[in-house]
Amino acid sequence: MNSAYALRREICEVGRRVYQRGYVAANDGNISVRMQDDRILCTPTGVSKGFITEDMLAICDLDGQQVAGTMRISSEIRMHLEIYKLRPDVYSVVHAHPPTATGFAVAGIELTQCVLPEVIVSLGGVPLADYGTPGGPDIVEPMKPLLKDYDAILMANHGAVTLGKDVMDAHFKMETVEHFAKIALVAHQLGQVKTLSDGHVNELIDLRERFGIVGRPSCERSELPLAGGGEEKPNELVEQITQEVLKKLRS
Ligand SMILES: [Zn+2]
Repeated sequence: MNSAYALRREICEVGRRVYQRGYVAANDGNISVRMQDDRILCTPTGVSKGFITEDMLAICDLDGQQVAGTMRISSEIRMHLEIYKLRPDVYSVVHAHPPTATGFAVAGIELTQCVLPEVIVSLGGVPLADYGTPGGPDIVEPMKPLLKDYDAILMANHGAVTLGKDVMDAHFKMETVEHFAKIALVAHQLGQVKTLSDGHVNELIDLRERFGIVGRPSCERSELPLAGGGEEKPNELVEQITQEVLKKLRS
């Protein structure tokens, strides 16, 4: 098995995983790998990632010119190409719409709190990039300031993208993003999100440096911003409405 074929197999395996885990529906999402000479091996347009085979994959250059493959590359690969140009250390990009993480992206809430050790070590946090039209040239612009430091980004009203040293690395980061989102959601439902202390966070950041993790992804020690502004304001609002109603009833 040559290395080019191994890369094709890995992309297909990750395609099956993201589909089986429900991170994509129908033909959503795309996966790519940077090969030698900056050739990009990628999933084609119009195919479910759950049923992709090695022969369906396409190859393009960093300008988006297709150089191999019988199926057309996806317009969303443009985003991958911009990422590869900005981050020479990145060799794979995975884009998916995992439902809980995408829920946070739709709610406009980033996942940047210092709450889970494995997230702080591997990703720092998962910031939210403003919306850009899928497949359009502007999609990557809001991501650019974040791409310098982060390997996982939420895309407003769209999904998430993860970067890795290989396709499994990028895929595992996508798993971490969705797992973090699920845990954050449960913690919210339980009514408390406790962040780690500065000392504990610094210990984890030291670990990151020891593992040679690129960039300076940071997390926040404040609580997740809840829609409506936390516990106090809704109660205040209910109180105000109650007073208004009582006033009207009395008049
Ligand atoms: Zn998408």
